[in-house]
Amino acid sequence: IGGNGPEGPRLDDGVLVGRGRVFAATSNPGKFEEFRSLLAGLSVEVLSLADQPPVVFPEEGTEYEANAVAKARAVAEALGEWALADDSGLEVDALGGAPGPLSARYGGPGLDDSGRVVRLLGALEDFPQAQARGARFVCVVALVGPGGEQAIARGECAGRILASVRGDEGFGYDPVFQPQGFEGSMAELGPEVKDQISHRARAFAELAPALAEIPVASD
Ligand code: IMP
Repeated sequence: IGGNGPEGPRLDDGVLVGRGRVFAATSNPGKFEEFRSLLAGLSVEVLSLADQPPVVFPEEGTEYEANAVAKARAVAEALGEWALADDSGLEVDALGGAPGPLSARYGGPGLDDSGRVVRLLGALEDFPQAQARGARFVCVVALVGPGGEQAIARGECAGRILASVRGDEGFGYDPVFQPQGFEGSMAELGPEVKDQISHRARAFAELAPALAEIPVASD
């Protein structure tokens, strides 16, 4: 069998063919939904960790690629399954590329998504010019197999940081990120547009051939 078929599991000459499966190594519900919808067109089933024994994730470092691989590897090893993880962040020109891989922890442990957004807008108060508010989302996605197989892809989405919050879709910094070539914030554009242009969409598109090679699960 080359790859797996789009129509779900079936017996073909006594051989089980159908969809491979991969566990999404994330506890972020916003990301999980995006993983699901981005991979909906592929013949791979995306499962959450919700009903699995708890997985101990390694401490996150300052490199997207190492973080993504470490998260996927932790799940692949704990479950003996294929695992997919991303590590992503927002890089702001006026902040020298910060917060980058530290985006989830920007401003310290007491903040939630909207607290971090307020903090970011405050840090950019002295940079009203559109040019200095240039920014990009970056995503590195890692696929790790139960036998140590590994594939990695990267995607970016360029844009700028708005003066204030706009829209309520998406997650994280979406309400203050305006993608290049669009009028609204990512949170106003909504999932259909985001899934076409986002850093995560681009990384997943590059990873698609490796995902299609995940073998059909035997149980
Ligand atoms: P991590 O990949 O779990 O380290 O988290 C990355 C952090 O970057 C998230 O918690 C968000 O704050 C931010 N981020 C990553 N991707 C997106 C996105 O698509 N929209 C908005 N914020 C994002």
